[in-house]
Amino acid sequence: MLFIDLAAQQVIIKEKIDANIQAVLSHGKYIMGPEVARLETKLADFCGTQHAVACASGTDALLIALMTYDVGPGDAIFTTPFTFIATAETISLLGATPVFVDIDPNTFNIDPDHLDQAITALINCSSDYPRPASAVRLTPKGIIAVDLYGLPADYDRINAIAAQNNLWIIEDAAQSFGAKYKNRPACSLAHIGCTSFFPAKPLGCYGDGGMCFTDDDALAETMQSIRGHGTSNNKYDNARIGINGRLDTIQAAILDAKLDIFSREIELRSQVALRYTNLMKEQQIYSIQTPRVPDGYLSVWAHYSLLAKDQRHRTSLQVGLKNADIPTAIYYPKPLHLQTAFKSLGYKIGDFPVSEDCAQRIFSLPMYPYLTEPDQQKIVKVIGDM
Ligand SMILES: *Cc1c(COP(=O)(O)O)cnc(C)c1O
Repeated sequence: MLFIDLAAQQVIIKEKIDANIQAVLSHGKYIMGPEVARLETKLADFCGTQHAVACASGTDALLIALMTYDVGPGDAIFTTPFTFIATAETISLLGATPVFVDIDPNTFNIDPDHLDQAITALINCSSDYPRPASAVRLTPKGIIAVDLYGLPADYDRINAIAAQNNLWIIEDAAQSFGAKYKNRPACSLAHIGCTSFFPAKPLGCYGDGGMCFTDDDALAETMQSIRGHGTSNNKYDNARIGINGRLDTIQAAILDAKLDIFSREIELRSQVALRYTNLMKEQQIYSIQTPRVPDGYLSVWAHYSLLAKDQRHRTSLQVGLKNADIPTAIYYPKPLHLQTAFKSLGYKIGDFPVSEDCAQRIFSLPMYPYLTEPDQQKIVKVIGDM
């Protein structure tokens, strides 16, 4: 059994993929070919935003968004420690400081109450909430909320807190392209939305890719400029320092083919997730917590993640499943505040207890649109028999 079966999807769209790639080979515009602009238009429509700026990866999307806000040394950017490294790595790469905020144990996303406490503690120089070592010299600038496992964070509350404190928000929607929050699409829920087309993401290409979304004309123009080395209207006078962050034309062509079946795949993902949860109930497996989706949210199920009782329970479940040829994965075994790369921030064990607890108990089952019911029955039976 596979954790994510991309071949099952390829069979369905093979002809269009081949034709789209052939079209790129024929016109030869490998960099910023017409497919890139067409994809930007289609995906901006899909997300209901005014602008979309294609880029080379989800990491570059975050980097471009942060550079657009001129993030640098002395800036505090609030984010979750329970995420992929790229979320906070891009903050540090620009010389700014990630200020971590614990998560909600039900959604695994940044907890708005804690966000409020963390901002207040930083502004008031108080130790009421864990802060990085350099906290007294930092100015709050923005927030990166993450839609973990494909479930959007609570943007109504996060937006209200941001507005009160004059902060901008970036939505890390690397896992949530296609999800919804109160009928609004992921990538449109903050000032800038950033997604990834890494092959294993809900909408993936056959290499690296990403995109930034915004309704703001000025932000979009700056993002386009940064993506291409800081170009301006004057070809010989670059306006700012940028990066080479473009999306390959061939990847745009592949995404165009995948987009045709994407809405259907979102439905299939929902069915697969619902089937897992129902099977777990039928087998009366109460020692494992199944995912919770609050009312008004639509998850795109980048991962179907379960909480075991404790770390030992998780290990035994993973071993049992592996022995039955069923792969599992852990997103994420070590929260960012405890990782070596962020050692200089001075955080310690106990600073973010919910994230630390989830890191010890979380694990994910195989999840992709074409996962069959018999395979799911087998997976849940193996769990139930342990
Ligand atoms: C995958 C991912 C990224 C980075 O995307 P890449 O395309 O791999 O660079 C950023 N944030 C989160 C939450 C992710 O899951």
